[in-house]
Amino acid sequence: MTVTVRFAPSPTGHIHIGNARTALFNWLYALKNKGRFIQRFDDTDLARSKQGYADGILYDLGWLGIFPDAVDYQSRRFGDYDAAVERLKAAGLLYPCYETAEELELKRKVRLSRRLPPVYGREALKLNEAEKADFEGEGRQPHWRFLLPNFRSDPFETERTEIHWNDVVRGEETVDLASLSDPVLVRADGTYLYTLPSVVDDINMGVSHVIRGDDHVTNTGVQIALFRALGAEPPAFGHHNLLTTASGEGLSKRTGALSISGLRESGIEPMAVASLAVLIGTSENVSAVRTMDELAEKFDPASTSKSASKFDPAELGVLNRVLLHAMPFEEARTRLLALGVDGERAEPFWITVRGNLDRLADAGKWWGIVNEGPEPGEMLSAEDREFVREAFDLLPEEPWDRSTWKSWTDQVKEKSGRKGKALFMPLRLALTGLASGPELADLLPLLGREGTLARRP
Ligand code: GLU
Repeated sequence: MTVTVRFAPSPTGHIHIGNARTALFNWLYALKNKGRFIQRFDDTDLARSKQGYADGILYDLGWLGIFPDAVDYQSRRFGDYDAAVERLKAAGLLYPCYETAEELELKRKVRLSRRLPPVYGREALKLNEAEKADFEGEGRQPHWRFLLPNFRSDPFETERTEIHWNDVVRGEETVDLASLSDPVLVRADGTYLYTLPSVVDDINMGVSHVIRGDDHVTNTGVQIALFRALGAEPPAFGHHNLLTTASGEGLSKRTGALSISGLRESGIEPMAVASLAVLIGTSENVSAVRTMDELAEKFDPASTSKSASKFDPAELGVLNRVLLHAMPFEEARTRLLALGVDGERAEPFWITVRGNLDRLADAGKWWGIVNEGPEPGEMLSAEDREFVREAFDLLPEEPWDRSTWKSWTDQVKEKSGRKGKALFMPLRLALTGLASGPELADLLPLLGREGTLARRP
């Protein structure tokens, strides 16, 4: 059987690192099993779904390194859902209900006060045709509930009905269908809730593994019953834990918390996001993984914790630096080009500065320092200024290489009697305008004798 997975967000906002976790779990699962990855947009809510958000999600996935084998939209498949509804109705498994939200709330309170579980009591199943016609005469439109198979012959005599599955992430899972209300599949205005379209698509698209957040565990009990009611074998399921902010808050697409686009704009590398999103809350240490294939090697869904994982965005900064500090020139080349870093010195320049970068774009600043002159700012004292001027008079002749810095400063040391910070810091400030930065031994050959002399204060 070909492994087929899908990532199924609603295109109602920008995806955040928690959504990326779901996408990546699916992508890596497909990668490991040579499977297919379907990008499915759950856009049955036509008012809130926007093509712009769907496009943004595809862009974010591509940036992360996820390239779907197929892209589909639920809004193009209403015919399939309507057919499933007819099939369920014909089987007596979908029944019309007329209660308003207030009436349902009252029923719930009454049940609680009688120490009964607060599930829907299936009162609408008792309605005869005349009663239904009366409701419709009042202008009420029915919503439709799926009759859960949690009884033997009398739907008012429910009994414990366990649905089991071996969760790809969590291991053995059980949901008791008698603890649940018959779920509403179709609203009074005819719109679909997520439950049915998802199952119909999973059947029609041949999805073999549904991997999603653990907020869907209860849905899985219902959906497995729905697969069977529609005559299909349920797929395998996996539910990963959710990510929360350091203060324990959930992430939301609507609030834009830690959106992938925001992280990208702030200069975080895609593999920093992917490494954290996949490895946090697993038995693997979170480390900066360079490629998706290496991440797939480390990926083991069964080692994921069952409780929510708090994560600290500052960790992204740490991973980012690790990735940049080891990034080969070839990988950085086109992005450097966009920053104006070009020509013969581009590669040695990159090797020199990468160890000092928080963000790749900061290389642009260093390119400016190398080519145009020191950052304005740090002022030398009169005494240091004099010292630097004299030091520059001792600059050796070219050719220059990595050893030039040492031979030069050895000479300066001897002449001036300065050593340590008193020797190096004024030179660094004169050359770069900054108190810290790449090794001067590497920087000096990039500046060249002429470029260095031009910095003589
Ligand atoms: N649209 C659903 C969600 O974003 C999909 C859940 C699923 O993967 O089945 O929660």
